[in-house]
Parts: sequence; C-alpha cells; structure tokens
Amino acid sequence: MDPIVRMLETVLDDVRGRDAGGVADYIPSLAAADPERLAFAVVGPRGRVTSVGDDDVEFTIQSVSKPFVLALALEELGRDAVLARVGVEPSGEPFNAISLEAGTGRPANPMVNAGAIVTSSLLGEGDEFSRAETIVAGLSRFAGRTLTVDEEVYRGESETGHRNRALAYLTRSHDIIRGDVPTVVETYFRQCSVLVTVRDLAVMGATLAFGGVNPVTGERVVREDVARDVVSVMASCGMYDYSGEWLLRVGLPAKSGVSGALLAIAPSQFGVATFSPRLDRHGNSVRGIQILERMSGEFGMHVFEPHEAIAAPGIRIDRSEGRVVVHLGGELAFSGAERMIGVLSDLADGAVTDDTILVDGSELARAHPAALELLRRQLEVHGGRLHFLD
Ligand code: GLN
Repeated sequence: MDPIVRMLETVLDDVRGRDAGGVADYIPSLAAADPERLAFAVVGPRGRVTSVGDDDVEFTIQSVSKPFVLALALEELGRDAVLARVGVEPSGEPFNAISLEAGTGRPANPMVNAGAIVTSSLLGEGDEFSRAETIVAGLSRFAGRTLTVDEEVYRGESETGHRNRALAYLTRSHDIIRGDVPTVVETYFRQCSVLVTVRDLAVMGATLAFGGVNPVTGERVVREDVARDVVSVMASCGMYDYSGEWLLRVGLPAKSGVSGALLAIAPSQFGVATFSPRLDRHGNSVRGIQILERMSGEFGMHVFEPHEAIAAPGIRIDRSEGRVVVHLGGELAFSGAERMIGVLSDLADGAVTDDTILVDGSELARAHPAALELLRRQLEVHGGRLHFLD
C-alpha cells in the first residue's frame, strides 16, 4: 500500500472513535449530515492528490469559501481597495458577531461573516445568480474542476440567514458593502452552498500553499503576493475565536466551515483538508483539529519552528585546474547569503593565489534580489578573482 495512504489511514483510525461535538443544526440539510463522516486529503508540490475515508462525499464549502473569495477580490481590485472595506485584525469573537471597527464600520476581517459578506460584494455584476456565477467560476479554478451550488442548502441559508442580513445592512449604513444588500446576501448564501469534496478542498488549499498556482492543473489562479496575503489572514483569523491557540498548537494557516470542513496550508509543502461534521463551541471540526494537530506535530510542519532549507542553500564545489566553481541550488535568501559569504571568504583565503572562483547561481530555484546583491558585493571584496553567473 502507498505509504502516504497508510499514514493518512492510521491517523483517521485514531480519531474515528472520538465523538465530541455536534453537527450544525441551523438548517435542516446541515442538521441531517451524517456525523460519522470522516475524510482526509493532502496535495503536495507535484499535484499528487492523496485521500482516505469518505473522500468522494460532497458537502457545502461554507466558510472555507471565505479565503478564496478574498483571493479573487485581492486579485481583481488590489490590496488597498480591499483593505479600505475590510480589516485584517483577528476579532476574538464568534464567526457571526457584529465585529465592526468603531467609526469606519469596516468588518474586523474577511474570515468572519460580516467581512466575508463585504468581500463577496466586491465580485461580479448584476443579480445574485450572475454574481455567484463569477464567484463559483473563481472557486472552480482553485479546485481545478467545475463546482456547483447545492440549491437546497442555499434555500436553507436564505430562509434562516437573518443575522447575516442584519450584518450586511450594518455595513451598508457605513457605505462599506458594494451593491444592493439583498442581492449581495443571496450571493453570499450561494457562495456558502458550493459543493466540494475533501479532495477539492485540498487542491484549493495547495493552490494557496504554492503561491497561487494550482499544482494539479498548472494554472496560475492568483498572483503570488495575493496568495501570501490570504494565507497571512488565515493564520491570524481563520479559526474564529480559536485562532490564537490554533496558531500556537498547530502553527498552520487554516480555515474551518460549519459543514465540518477544515483546510490547512503548509506553505510550499501541502494543502491539507479534512471533513468531519461534529463541531466544537467555536464552530470548528473537532476531529479535524485532532487530525491536523497530529499531522503538524509529527511532520514538524509548524510554520514557526526552525526549517533548515532556507538557511542552507545547496552548495556543490567543483575544483579543476586553476578554477573553483561553486554551484548554488535551492533558495538563496538573507541567511543563505550570509552563509555563502563565509564560504566564499574561506575559499578565497585557502585558494592558490591566482585561482579564479566562479559562483554559479543559474540553478537556484528561488533567489531574492537583495540576497544576490549581497553576494555581488562579496565579489568586490575579492576583486577580479570572483565571478558570478546567473
Ligand atoms: N453559511 C454560514 C453562515 O454564513 C457559514 C458560517 C460558517 O461556515 N462558519 O452563517
């Protein structure tokens, strides 16, 4: 058996018997969800999707749509225009709280409902169907397949969504929301009712983990700076009023949804998604949290623990008659440049007087201009003996 599949299954088996929490019951179709459903998927850098459990069961995306709609808005309007209407501060409040900034009326962030409704209002034109179509098309590019709306869940959301309407009208009173409130709110309900599987979510997350490029389709969905902005907001605000403790324990940008979905991003490594409908008091999936906590711990995925690669660009040294060639690989950032400067000084000191030292940066996977500049400066220190190829 594939070792990744076996590992994912072991993790699922460990949490399967845990039955804390309850399914969302504010609409009949969510209340009817089978609480035992359990699924887990990961998507790595080469776009391989590995999944176990109920991985072909569809459920509604709910709040996990929020980061992706934020991404679409940032891509289309730019950061300043979006931040003029919605903040990026953790609210420390439940998802449906009246988290509005005093004075401006800007919602605290785009991961709570008030902010998500405003972000949703920034996309598309016309009635709720055409606005939602724009959004669903964008979500589909993240997923790499055509997604659809569950009309029954949508009707339930619309029939019960009075608090969301109230939040939207509050933002209207401050001129924050774009467009007609009833249209925007129905669009948001359709957005929440988009059907996905755990595999779709993992692909969507991987697209953010890999800088906006869907690793399965190869399509660039959003710019790299947009993906980074969205992942940052997920890190501080993605788990509602559990976001701080989540960041401490699991250390991965994430987003949860009331259907039991949980999405986590391991930047440059994986998109990870779980589905298990029983929720804790914050509205986050109980078993989803347990799965991610374990995965992050066992594989050292916490974003704030030391990660070696960045401090250690690959270095291979070839010596031949009168020539030393230093081949660089991987990523060259500040710490890597600092390390390289030491290596080059040692080489220059130890080399026979008229040896030429050539630094070959042509195979770097990622080089930050400021780090390259530091290396170039080091060349000046050693006069004409050091050459740089990029
Ligand atoms: N449709 C839900 C709402 O807007 C989504 C909330 C959630 O997933 N936390 O209330």
